[in-house]
This record gives sequence, C-alpha cells and structure tokens, in this order.
Amino acid sequence: MPGLSARSLAGVWHPCTQMGLLDDAPLLALARGEGPWLFDIDGRRYLDAISSWWVNLFGHANARISAAVADQLGRLEHVLLAGCTHEPVVELSERLSALTGGTLGHCFYASDGASAVEIALKMSVHWWRNHGMAERNEFVCVAGGYHGETTGALAVTDVPLFREAYAPMLRSAHRVMSPDARQAGSGETASGVAARAATQIAQLLETRGDRIAALILEPLVQCAGGMAMHDASYLAEVRRLCTLHGVHLIADEIAVGFGRTGSFFACEQAGIWPDFLCLSKGLSGGYLPLSVVLSRDEIYQGFLDTRIERGFLHSHSFTGNPLACRAALASLDIFEEDRVIEANHARAAVIADALTPLRADPRIAHLRQRGMIAAFDVTIDDPALRAGFSRRMHMAAREHSVLLRPIGTTVYLMPPYVLEPDELRWLVRQTMTALDQTLATTRSAAPEASAMVQPGPHQMP
Ligand SMILES: *Cc1c(COP(=O)(O)O)cnc(C)c1O
Repeated sequence: MPGLSARSLAGVWHPCTQMGLLDDAPLLALARGEGPWLFDIDGRRYLDAISSWWVNLFGHANARISAAVADQLGRLEHVLLAGCTHEPVVELSERLSALTGGTLGHCFYASDGASAVEIALKMSVHWWRNHGMAERNEFVCVAGGYHGETTGALAVTDVPLFREAYAPMLRSAHRVMSPDARQAGSGETASGVAARAATQIAQLLETRGDRIAALILEPLVQCAGGMAMHDASYLAEVRRLCTLHGVHLIADEIAVGFGRTGSFFACEQAGIWPDFLCLSKGLSGGYLPLSVVLSRDEIYQGFLDTRIERGFLHSHSFTGNPLACRAALASLDIFEEDRVIEANHARAAVIADALTPLRADPRIAHLRQRGMIAAFDVTIDDPALRAGFSRRMHMAAREHSVLLRPIGTTVYLMPPYVLEPDELRWLVRQTMTALDQTLATTRSAAPEASAMVQPGPHQMP
C-alpha cells in the first residue's frame, strides 16, 4: 500500500494548490490533534500557529466542544431549517444577536464564509429592489480585500491571480484604495492614511451613491491580502459615509471576528455596527463548517410581505446544522467561562514583547500586531528569490515543529487562544530560527517555482 501522501496525491484534489509542483513540498499527513498541536502519522508534532486557516480558537480535540457535539449527535444530527427549527440554532441566534447589543437581530446561516458573503450581497440588492430601487445594485470593495472564491464573493475580492481565469464570470465592482497603514508617506500617520482612503469613498459615493447597494470591507485587518492593518478611524468614517448616502455597509468579520483583533468583534474598536455582519471560521471554534449573516431589523423588515418573491430567496441543504450550532454554542461558553478576551490581552502582550527584537532587524519591515494577529514583512530584493520564500519558510518552520504559511513575504502568527506564555515565547523563537535558516538558504538558492499559490490564505505546498 502506498503512503498516505501518495494516496492523497492520487485521489484528492487539494485546494488552491498547483498539484504539478508538489514534489519538493510533501504533504503533511496528520493523524490527530491535541490542543494547539497537530501530530503527523509518524508521531512528529507541529504547533498550529495559524489555527488551521484561522478557524481554530480553542485547540484541536477540545474536550468541551467535543462533548457538546457528541451530545448533539445523540439527539439530532441534522434537519432542514425551512419550516423546522431546533434549540441549537435558536439559542445561537439569540446569543450572537446579544453580542451585538441587539443591533443585528436576525441570523441567516450557511456553511462557509464565501456563502455568507454571497448572502449579504444578495440581501442588499434584493432589499433595494423591494424598496423600488432596483437600480441600486452596484458594490464597492477595497483594494487588497478578500471575501471568498465563489463567483459573487470573488467579484468583490481583489486578488488578481484568483480572479484572472474566471474574469468572464465576474461582475465588476467599484474598487477603492486600501487603508493599509503601510502606505503612510513620510510624516503621515495611520489615521492619515485612513482619512485619505475614506476621502476616495466620499468622492465615489458623491457621484455614484444612488447606484450603489453596498460597500464591503474587512474591519481592522485585511488578512488574506497580507495582514494589512488599518486605523479604526477608517471604519467610523466609512460608517458615516454609508449612512449619509444610504449605502449598506457589509462587515466581513469572517477572519477577524471572535476575539482575533482584541475585541469580540473588530467593529467594536471603532464603535460602529454594520448593516450586515458576516461570520464564519472561528464561529464553530473551527470544528464544523458554519457561517452566518447577521442583519439589522430594518433589513429584515424589508423582506416581510405576503408575496413569496419579496422574501429572501436563498438556501443551502445544511443551513443551521445542529451539530455545527452546538459547537458554536460550546465555543461561546468557553469565551464566557474562561474570560477569553481578557486572557488574550495578556497573550497578545507576550507576543508583542517576544517580537520586540525584530524592530531593530534590518531584514524585517512593518512589524505589526492587532490582538492575536502578529505579522512582519521580510525584505528580499531579488524577485525570483521572493517567489520561493513562502514555501521555504513553511518547510523550515515544519523542521522546527511549527505550522506556518507565510503570505508572499509576509510572515504571520495567528495562534489558537490556548497557548501559555512559555509556549508563545517558544513559538516566536522557533519562527525566528526558521526565518534565519530560510534567509540563509534563500540567498544561495536558485530561483524556483512554488506550488504555493500567492497571495491568499489558501496557498499550500
Ligand atoms: C476565509 C475568508 C472568507 C471565505 O471563507 P471560506 O469559508 O473560505 O469560504 C471570506 N472573507 C474573509 C475575510 C476570509 O478571511
């Protein structure tokens, strides 16, 4: 019998991977997980420093979440959510709404992030149509933004490589500049860049506002675009402009929600709420596929009618799956019982402290952090060497027992919320050792192609 990796290559089409380039970057064949650790089939362990594509909050095989899912398995594994309901989906909706202070009152479920984005876009356009303004059907998105890879979500995603082949299938959207603080000119602050970016939106809405249904953005951190961080004042100003021009604001907190940036929701740091809030990834603690769009009552009311065609027309077979909802409820329990947001402030401070030496490292630029996301850019002048960096760094980190996936030359840490201070310091040390090793070999190595598709969250060697 061939090994697991060979069988995988023979039968599994791995996502966002050039399968033709996998020879020199073997798959990591995993047998089990325990807390922040993943164990491969040979018993070697790796610290999951990227929370398995940013979904895992409380470690693998978490006893509390597993118990809740197991309990639900013995009761009701699944039922359709059209004309039926169940305790887990009702309780989850009540608790999510409560976390927005009741501002966003209704929850519409799906199974993945991209579907949540599709739902928010469709809801916005349909809402305007129900209000006699079918001409309001254009979208505004932000440069460097990522909202998923189904065609509607891809149309508001700004990752040229992901879009190119599918361009004929995509509807065009207005794209405004990113508020990425790294663009600051000399003497310019992060809030200066934010103001500059917001001015562009003001101009667009001024001239085109009456044709625009919604603006979609990732609050505080554009993750897949390379962990680009911006000042919270941007969100407050965009909220003001959307309200002024009657444009819906869609906050995609699929990656940044659930405590990632230091507050439960990223929008809280700007003191705003969107009209639609998209959540997934950490929603189920990373256990099961689940996503949701929360909307304001005004949106919900806009679909209430006796005419079928004025209702929101969208459904997925596994909408509101009870197992996934129970995992999400268990995850919310952990947030409360363990005072996770507070505990993460201490964890974030340990990460910041451990990374401090990098500020003086000439190989590194833009060391940045927002809560439990820390990132820095590695300076490599030769474009050919830059192309292979991500895969080499990934492999070097693996040698040092850490699972990392740099985005281009941006190295980031996005660990689950279970690491002790010693483990966090160990993680930073291993990352630095892997970086030293990668740069030592990068300098002497020949240029090469990489199976890691760049950029995006979904590249895999
Ligand atoms: C991951 C991600 C998505 C897409 O979610 P999937 O579950 O991968 O479809 C959308 N938006 C953001 C901000 C993301 O990080």
